Amino acid sequence: MPEGHTIHRAAQDQRPMLVGKRIAATSPQGRFAEGALRIDGQVCTAIEALGKHLLYQFEGGDHLHIHLGLAGRIYRNVQPADPPRDVVRIRMESVSHVIDITGPAVCEILTADDLTAFRMKYGPDLLAEPDEPDRAIARIRKSRAPIATLLMNQQVISGIGNIYRTEILWLMGLNPFARGCDVPEDTLQRLWTEMRSLMQIGVTYNSIITNGELPAAGQDIQERVNIYAEEACPTCESAVEVTKISARTLYYCARCQGV
Ligand SMILES: [Zn+2]
Repeated sequence: MPEGHTIHRAAQDQRPMLVGKRIAATSPQGRFAEGALRIDGQVCTAIEALGKHLLYQFEGGDHLHIHLGLAGRIYRNVQPADPPRDVVRIRMESVSHVIDITGPAVCEILTADDLTAFRMKYGPDLLAEPDEPDRAIARIRKSRAPIATLLMNQQVISGIGNIYRTEILWLMGLNPFARGCDVPEDTLQRLWTEMRSLMQIGVTYNSIITNGELPAAGQDIQERVNIYAEEACPTCESAVEVTKISARTLYYCARCQGV
């Protein structure tokens, strides 16, 4: 499952390829033929990431909504591109580029009204411009659920995946089992700001980097974390504890996080 920064990066990478250009849309696989026809021949006016969702806006007011899920992939090519493979759910072609999407969990057209309802369903995106932390913080402060559960709840905040959840809680020295309503508001403000800057780093390097060691130009960019899937806490050298919370593995340092 891609974390939110990869979807923002995908949106950023595709904008110069599609936005402001007239798009030829087809469904080589056939399963999205009707949807492709709706946007075929229209100018793509924006590409937005909302949490793990991609929204391609078209001049007529429709949006193509993509959620890649576990198996979905986006392939980008320059024109002239090879003919699509028959597993491609949707192909979007501009004069300069071709985007093929295979195996998405969601591929649908949202009207302007659908989109309004869709936005109401999800918590604010960490990387939105401008960002709106207040809505997320209010939801956390109202809940008795553990903060580690709330951070992964896309109806509270959009975009935090499992690795970022572990890392931000450790960086903040926060007990993952603390109830949302017990976490002070200024702590949540700092959490939002810190998480936002970690995800901006994630978009820039297209990789999760939470330990402050930013790669130099030309260096291999791989994940750089503090305690996710690590054995010892880098601060106190205690053994890192492992548990499942919200059905996903959480790592924490009992000593540094006051558990
Ligand atoms: Zn520790």
